[in-house]
Amino acid sequence: MRNSSYGRIDKRSLRTRIASAVSAVFISVSVFHGCAMPFGKSIGQSNTAVRQFFAMDTMMRIELQGKDAEVAADAAQALIEKYDSLWSALDEKSEISSINISAGSGAIKVTDETFQIIKESLKQAEYTHGAFDPTVGLLLELWGFRKEINHIPSTEQLQIALAGVSWKNVNVDDEDCSVQLADPNTRLDLGGIAKGYATDRLKELLAQYEIDRALINLGGNICVIGEKEDGSAYKVAITDPLDTNQFLGIVYAKDVAVITSGGYERYLEVEGFRYSHIMNPFSGSPSETDLASVSIVSTHGAMGDALSTALMVMGLDQAISFWKNNPDFGVVMCTMSGELYCSSNLRDVFIPENDKEVTYFESA
Ligand code: ADP
Ligand code: MG
Repeated sequence: MRNSSYGRIDKRSLRTRIASAVSAVFISVSVFHGCAMPFGKSIGQSNTAVRQFFAMDTMMRIELQGKDAEVAADAAQALIEKYDSLWSALDEKSEISSINISAGSGAIKVTDETFQIIKESLKQAEYTHGAFDPTVGLLLELWGFRKEINHIPSTEQLQIALAGVSWKNVNVDDEDCSVQLADPNTRLDLGGIAKGYATDRLKELLAQYEIDRALINLGGNICVIGEKEDGSAYKVAITDPLDTNQFLGIVYAKDVAVITSGGYERYLEVEGFRYSHIMNPFSGSPSETDLASVSIVSTHGAMGDALSTALMVMGLDQAISFWKNNPDFGVVMCTMSGELYCSSNLRDVFIPENDKEVTYFESA
């Protein structure tokens, strides 16, 4: 983060704006699929069900095909709505808010679902060496990603908030399924993992129904179950972060999650400056690296979601070395100057648009 940006915006009137989550979904990733049938139509025993709804502060779209598509789609929507009510940092009645309100004091007993996602988030924080950190909640609040603000956080406020930012401040107790935040300034925020984690749980849920294939789009977190009827892969388009009317390219996806993070999706605008909703947990400021977007291709949605956020924080060089040491996922990155970088394991999976030039990197 360049500190100079503080100087330019301090004490001036701020115009805050968080880009509409609704548009983010359809701008950020488009899913093309030749096999989709009109809503509700059935052929033989195979039905198609579509659900589109707002949850987790974004638009969700679930499209299923199979014998029990309608019942399965209802169950899928209900599960996401349940997660939303448990994990929303904005809803004072959520379990995450209960934990946050008790920061610095007692442990809070939570449901198994909440306990498991918190444990997963801590695992991803450790894996990414703290670039993904679910305790950035107070930073998000201070920077105005909770409600409209008309001031920039002071250096003192940021220092106090930063003292609470560490996934190591989260104590979990397996015995009684409870969570305690060690520092009074620690605030959990699961926004960087909840949607990817939810796609993993949806996959498990849908396995209980006779579903042939599914396309799940949770606010740009895409999860594909199965393949097209003709046996080919689904095409998931990755939006060009520098020109959201264009695509960087297409991911050919079968039984995989494609998860994109970019500063262009949700941001705060201050006199011409755009501040990303992705926080740098080390500096306490919105992340400002040479990356405009990071897309992860992985069979593990929660990991993919956490990684898309973490690699944005790391920046290009660190992200490439991270991948070289952990090449069990695929990654496509677009820099602020429009260059495309791609892990070598996606050579046949990611097809760049208009023969755009791509720099591939190999594992160590
Ligand atoms: P989106 O939610 O738009 O898919 P991301 O997956 O990148 O985008 O998640 C960004 C969200 O994650 C933020 O809105 C915030 O809730 C949370 N967050 C921001 N910075 C971090 C971070 N460094 N580590 C973990 N979570 C973060
Ligand atoms: Mg994420």
